[in-house]
Amino acid sequence: MRRNREGLLVVLSGPSGSGKDTVLSELAEHADEDIALSVSLTTRERRSWEVDGTHYYFVTRDYFEQKLKAGEILEHTCYCGNYYGTPKSTVDEWLARGKTVILKIEVEGAERIRSLYPECVGVFLLPPSLEVLAQRLMGRKSEDAAEIQRRMEIAADELRHASEYDYLILNDELDYAVSDLRAVIRAERQRTCRRKYMISEVTQC
Ligand code: 5GP
Repeated sequence: MRRNREGLLVVLSGPSGSGKDTVLSELAEHADEDIALSVSLTTRERRSWEVDGTHYYFVTRDYFEQKLKAGEILEHTCYCGNYYGTPKSTVDEWLARGKTVILKIEVEGAERIRSLYPECVGVFLLPPSLEVLAQRLMGRKSEDAAEIQRRMEIAADELRHASEYDYLILNDELDYAVSDLRAVIRAERQRTCRRKYMISEVTQC
C-alpha cells in the first residue's frame, strides 16, 4: 500500500536570516522522494552562493509580470522592492502526486496560501533572538546596512504573526530545528484525514 497518497502542503515562514534555507537544504539532504521544495521566482539579485533554478528562478520584472498576468503565479509579494512568487503548476501537480510540498515564503504569502489551501500546515521558524538575527544577516555579507535595517524591521513585523502558525520551531541549533521539521512532516502525513484511503484499502471496500 502507498504510504503517502494524499499530498501535504507545508508553508515555512520565518524572518530573513532565521535559517529557512539552511534548514531546508539539510532536510533535503536526507529526505525521502516524497518531499518536494517549491522554487520561487524572484526579481532580486542573485547572491554569490545561490544557484538559479535551485534557490530561486532569477527573472526580470517584465517576465515576472507576464507570468502574473497569465495566472501562473499562485501567490506573490513585494519584499524590499523585489517581487517573489510561487509558481502554480508545480505545486498543484506535486500535491496531486501525493508529495509533501514545502513553500518557503513570508507571512503575507502564507496567509494567501492558507486561504487557498485551508488544509496546509504552517510552520514558523524562530530565531533565538533579534540580536542573533541581526548578526546572521550581517554575517552573510549579502546586504548593505540599509537593507539589513529594512529586513530587521520586516522581521519584527513578521514575528507578530508567528502565533498564527500551527508549529513554531526554534532555530538555535540547526540539527534540532531540522529534526523538529522532519517530525512535524512525519506526524502530519499520518493524520487520519490524509490516510482515510488506507482504511478502505485494508478492508477492501
Ligand atoms: P530572500 O531575499 O531573503 O531570499 O527572501 C526574502 C523573503 O521572501 C523571505 O522571507 C522569503 O521566505 C520570502 N519569499 C521567498 N520566496 C517567496 C515567494 O514565492 N512568495 C512569498 N510570498 N515570499 C517569498
